[in-house]
Amino acid sequence: MARYTGPACRLCRREGTKLYLKGSRCTSGACSFDVREKAGAPGAHGVSRKKVGEYGMQLREKQKAKRYYGVLERQFRNYYEMAVKKEGMTGANLLCILETRLDNVVYRMGLAASRKEARQLVCHGHFTLNGKRADIASILVRPGDVIALRENSRDLPKFKALLENFDAKNAPKWLEVDTENVTVKAVAAPTRDDIDFPFTEQLIVELYSK
Ligand code: SF4
Repeated sequence: MARYTGPACRLCRREGTKLYLKGSRCTSGACSFDVREKAGAPGAHGVSRKKVGEYGMQLREKQKAKRYYGVLERQFRNYYEMAVKKEGMTGANLLCILETRLDNVVYRMGLAASRKEARQLVCHGHFTLNGKRADIASILVRPGDVIALRENSRDLPKFKALLENFDAKNAPKWLEVDTENVTVKAVAAPTRDDIDFPFTEQLIVELYSK
């Protein structure tokens, strides 16, 4: 299945919630979800959306998580299978696995405005994982791993601007940010409490358990 290349804001309207896909625009007055909140789902009949049944709710929750993390269906399903095999609650395990993707970690470091941008920056080879170039956005970061912005990249205008405001205050507690060396260390695995987006992950589990 191909990656979605249409307007990101349309996805927020489709899911009925802000997915924060466009960086600073999402928190500005220009967010089209805020502006068009009353418009409902996209399309001419968005306002008269039908009542959503049980399956529809489960499907929408899965789509929401996929879109929030920018993951395709097959990959998402693989993460679910991994989550099932882990100890604990499958839904929470799934979200925690998604949270450890390298592109998400770069976004959480504050070195990209969105997960989409983080994915591009990783693919362009701007980061290292444990000292080695890492250009695969789906790599899962494990406790003890160190992610760094490559020295050659630090002088690029894009990062120079970001590094001026680079600090640790917004990083989740499982990531230890070293502002001087522009690195982040995963000091633990993320927990469900580290994920502030209000997913109802049980609905995703119910969908895949059918
Ligand atoms: Fe969604 Fe608003 Fe960001 Fe567009 S600007 S992606 S509608 S949160």
